[in-house]
Parts: sequence; structure tokens; C-alpha cells
Amino acid sequence: MVIIIGAGPAGLSLAYALSKAGEEVQIFEASPEVGGLSRSLSLWGRKVEIGPHYLVQDLTPRIQELLQYSMGDEYEVYHRHSHMVVQGLFFNYPPGILEILKKSGPFNSLVFVCSLLWEKLFPQAYRPNAESFMVSKMGKALYLRFFRTYNEKLWGVSCARISEEYAQTLIGLGKRGASFWKMLANNLRKKQARFRTCLYPHGGFGNLCKKLADALSHQGVRLHLSAAIQDIVVEGGKVRGIRLADGSFYPCESIFTTIPLLKLVTLLPNTPSSLFGKDKGMTFRNLTLVYLNVHIEGFPQDQCLYMASPEIKAARITNFNHFTTNVYPTTILLLEYWTGDEEALWHYKEKELLDQAKKDIQTAELCTHIEILDCHVLKIQRAFPVPDTSFPAARKVVTDYLATVQELYLVGRNNSGVFNFGVENTFEECFRQAEDYLGRRPKPKAPTLSSLTSIIS
Ligand SMILES: Cc1cc2nc3c(=O)[nH]c(=O)nc-3n(C[C@H](O)[C@H](O)[C@H](O)COP(=O)(O)OP(=O)(O)OC[C@H]3O[C@@H](n4cnc5c(N)ncnc54)[C@H](O)[C@@H]3O)c2cc1C
Repeated sequence: MVIIIGAGPAGLSLAYALSKAGEEVQIFEASPEVGGLSRSLSLWGRKVEIGPHYLVQDLTPRIQELLQYSMGDEYEVYHRHSHMVVQGLFFNYPPGILEILKKSGPFNSLVFVCSLLWEKLFPQAYRPNAESFMVSKMGKALYLRFFRTYNEKLWGVSCARISEEYAQTLIGLGKRGASFWKMLANNLRKKQARFRTCLYPHGGFGNLCKKLADALSHQGVRLHLSAAIQDIVVEGGKVRGIRLADGSFYPCESIFTTIPLLKLVTLLPNTPSSLFGKDKGMTFRNLTLVYLNVHIEGFPQDQCLYMASPEIKAARITNFNHFTTNVYPTTILLLEYWTGDEEALWHYKEKELLDQAKKDIQTAELCTHIEILDCHVLKIQRAFPVPDTSFPAARKVVTDYLATVQELYLVGRNNSGVFNFGVENTFEECFRQAEDYLGRRPKPKAPTLSSLTSIIS
């Protein structure tokens, strides 16, 4: 018996992979519905996500199979449009070098190229952080214009305190990548094209999770909702089962967990006191999501706009109408505000948030007319850990301890340690982990003739 903690995309896809191979699986989910951070909200007669979610059309065969299993052909194909808005100029997101040079004009382009040459001729002393990494790759001028403001808005700390691993995964260049020239070559080969055609499940990603959960239940996977795990029972260094708040105990051979690491350590017995306390060197960002139901004219065709200018407080603006060809009488926009506990914006009331959202839309000049009919606010505390330079080491202390508990496996976004870990990565990683797990298990015995006879009779 395998127990999975959490029924988000990770828990569900793992249950799919394990149960398909004949494992007995039970999923425990704290909330009354499945989907985790990919669940959908019902707003103004429609379903929308907690933030935009993308699934590229060019899926691996395993993900295609999962999609077919859960949704059949109930999804739409759409062309992804997203731009970074930098002081009134729109650049594809992520921006391409050719486009930057074309749109920035001859003077700025010359500054970018000179700054890069300067960096190559007189390289700064390298420090293992995002700022040093980006400057070494693309020169200071490009870094300042396209990377610094946006990332400092997201994470609330200077890029000199953000880890270089984060910068590497964000722009897809390894430590030794040839940077500017490699990006230019990618541009010319149109390498970004793969990310441009995407799939949107009918009814949204929450519906995909729901349909997957329904199909799994029919296949014999037991799904316990509103079932927050209180304790993980460990004996002789190996997991034995889980206990719920009502005291009920469920035995198992292995546990896969998708919940945040620091929450997980509180469920284990005898966790060393050194692992409790003030976040063990990790800091977290809160998310305030401001949904607006609007009549709007002249808004760009994008699903998402990334706001890189410091005078606009929202980090990203999503237009949910642009994920589907369905026609709705109104448009739903989402403005995301990323903050720390101590920032005033995190404590804003709905009226103040509505005023801030209006101000941001006006300052960014994103439409010719807007009438706001209604507003809905959702706050998620500790939504994302900050990828600062202390994060990898702080995370390692916790994961090293968890690795001492046998048959406890970490999966999903909360445990990946990677920051642009989308739904697609989640599915693939879960399939890989299921494969590794099944590979270590003794193969089920082939049925004997007598057992076959008893099955037939
Ligand atoms: C604003 C925003 C934007 C995003 N944008 C994108 C995007 O563009 N593309 C993309 O692919 N992804 C995006 N994501 C991330 C996406 O939501 C995650 O990748 C995905 O939900 C991760 O799935 P998961 O199953 O690993 O974790 P989660 O979705 O976090 O699921 C964990 C589950 O564990 C449950 N749980 C917690 N504690 C317990 C307990 N004690 N007992 C039982 N259950 C418990 C939780 O209730 C939750 O359901 C975004 C997320 C947000 C918030």
C-alpha cells in the first residue's frame, strides 16, 4: 500500500502512474477539493485558476496519455501570447535578443552591446548570485533593464541575494553557456516556438485535476478529502502509516508527500529541535490575487503581461478570456501582488487593493476603456519560498534529515527546489519517480495455474 499526501497535480499524477502499474494507492488531501494550487475558483459564473497555468501542446507521450485518460479531447489549443512590459514597451516573454535590439532603438542597442563587450573585456569579480550571473552573461545594461526590477519585485530582495541557480533555470543557460550568443542562436532557430502553442482543459486546470481524480477513483484509488494528515508514524527508521485528526490510522509500506518541507517535518516524530523554529534560513513570499470582473476595450491579445516597471506594483496581469475561444459577456483580469509579511500591501483591505489595481492598469495604459463591475481578493500566505543564496543550503539541511526516514519520498513543486516548476514538469517528475520506485519493488508474481483456475471459477 502506498499513501500519497496531497491531491494537487503531483499527487494525482503519481497515483495515476503507480495504480496503472498495479500498486494499491490511497490519497489524503487536507482540503475538501482536489487540485492544490492548480484548483479553479468559481467567479462570476465561470471557472478561473489561481494564477495562469500553461501546458504546452508538444507534450511527452506519457503526459499525452494522462491528458487523454482524464480529459479525452475536452481541451482547446491556443496560441500563447505573453509580453514583458518595460516602460511602456512590449517585449515577448521571455524576451528575445533580436527583438530587444529592434525595439530598443539604435542608442539603447548600442549601450547594450557596449556594456556586454565591456563585461567580456573587463569582467567583474564573479560572485555566485543572480546579479553576477546575469551581468556576466548579458552585460549590465541588459540585466538592469530586463531582469533586475521584475525579479526584485517578485522576491523582495536585491538580485545580489538571489541564487545563481535561479537565474540559470530562468533563462535556460547553464554556468558555462555562451550567454548572449547562445540566446541569439536560439532566437534565430526559433527555439522558443515550442512554448507558443498550448492546451487549455475545458473548465480549466481544476477540472483536469477533478476529472483525473474521478477516473482514478473508478480505477480503485481511494481518495480521502478534508483529510489533513496529523502524524506520519515511523518505526525503526521506516514509515509505517499515517494518522488523521480523528485518530484513525492507515498503515502503508511507502509514503509520497507533495506538501511543503517545513510542514512535513512537523508531521514526523522525534524531528530534531534544530529543524523547527524560524523557517531554518528560508524566507517566503505571500501572494495577493486581485480578480476583477470588467468590461474592457483595447486590451492586448495576451494571456499574461509581466510588469517590469517599478512604478507598477502588480507583477503580472492575466486575462482569463484569452485562454479560450468561449465568448463571455465580461472579462476576468487577475493582478498578482507578491509581498513579504511586513509589507504594507500584504495588509491592504479589499478597497485599497481595488484602488491599487485601478492605478496599476491606468499607469500601464493597457486599455482604452475599462469599467470594473466587481472585485474578488484571494490571499495565499507563504505561497513561494524565496530563491535566495541561503535557500539551497537551508533546504539541504531539511532534505538530508528527511532522507534518513526510509520509504518517505518527496515529490511535486513544494519539494523540487526549482522555481519555474510548472504543471508539465510536475507530471514528468512524478512519472520518473514512480518508475524509479516500481523498479526497486519486487515484481508481482505471475499467477499460478491454480490461482488462475480460482479466478476463472
Ligand atoms: C499564482 C500562481 C501561478 C502559477 N503559475 C503557474 C504556471 O504558469 N504554470 C504552471 O505550470 N504552474 C503554475 N503554478 C504552480 C502550480 O499551481 C503548481 O505547479 C502545482 O499546483 C503544483 O502541484 P503540487 O501537486 O506539486 O503541489 P500543490 O498544488 O501545492 O498541492 C499540494 C497539496 O497538498 C495538500 N496538503 C497540504 N498539507 C496537507 C496535509 N497535512 N495533509 C493532506 N494534504 C495536505 C494541499 O491542500 C494541496 O492540495 C502557479 C501557482 C500560483 C499560485
